[in-house]
Amino acid sequence: CGIVGFTGVNQVLPSLLKGLEKLEYRGYDSAGVYVNDGEKGDFLVKEKGRVADLERATEGKGIEGTAGIAHTRWATHGGVSVENAHPHMSEDGRFYLVHNGVIENYEALRDQYLQGVQLHSQTDTEIAVQLIDKFSKENHLSTFDAFRRMISLLDGNSAYGFLLMDRQTPNLMYAAKKKSPLLIGVSEVGNVVTSDATAMLDVTHDFIELMDGEIAVIDKQKIDLFDPNGKQITREAFHLDIDA
Ligand code: GLU
Repeated sequence: CGIVGFTGVNQVLPSLLKGLEKLEYRGYDSAGVYVNDGEKGDFLVKEKGRVADLERATEGKGIEGTAGIAHTRWATHGGVSVENAHPHMSEDGRFYLVHNGVIENYEALRDQYLQGVQLHSQTDTEIAVQLIDKFSKENHLSTFDAFRRMISLLDGNSAYGFLLMDRQTPNLMYAAKKKSPLLIGVSEVGNVVTSDATAMLDVTHDFIELMDGEIAVIDKQKIDLFDPNGKQITREAFHLDIDA
């Protein structure tokens, strides 16, 4: 239901939690956050209920990191539980994915590709992150290509805003969308991704709109944008002239 992500030069957890709070008005049933420190480790925390409950759950865990993704969930597939909250993790803990929307053919994809994979949730979203992991391992695809391959298998009625992190490249975020909004926010202290600009106005007012079928690879100083055929493109940011 709501997505925020941040790769920057400062600690991102406070900005991610604040971003989720700004998305609360849209409604949600659970929330979660993944932060990667690059050196000391990475952290995944999920809770049912309010963002304040998630915030409490993050306290005292020594969470540090300059890149992370966070989500407020409005359950469509699978009940309201900690396991079903996002971010969803691949089997061996390499990939982390948040998702807005619905994957219509997730059961068919699960049955065709993920026999033998131990699933931890009842969601359509977990199927997507396990597919990325499978394609990267078994087909030796780069994360970008595995992400693209997964997206190519989603049936036409599916809707998604995806934001992906790979533990092996802790500063990078991969974003894609269809029929669900995602914006990339640009700033001096790093780059953000959000489903709703109002969540990140404390960080920036300059946004690049992501179009259906495109994929973006976002680093703290650099944004690479690709059209649906994988060809690199450029797009200027627009300035959003509203108050935080
Ligand atoms: N379909 C996903 C789920 O049920 C995402 C729902 C959402 O947009 O929050 O977990």
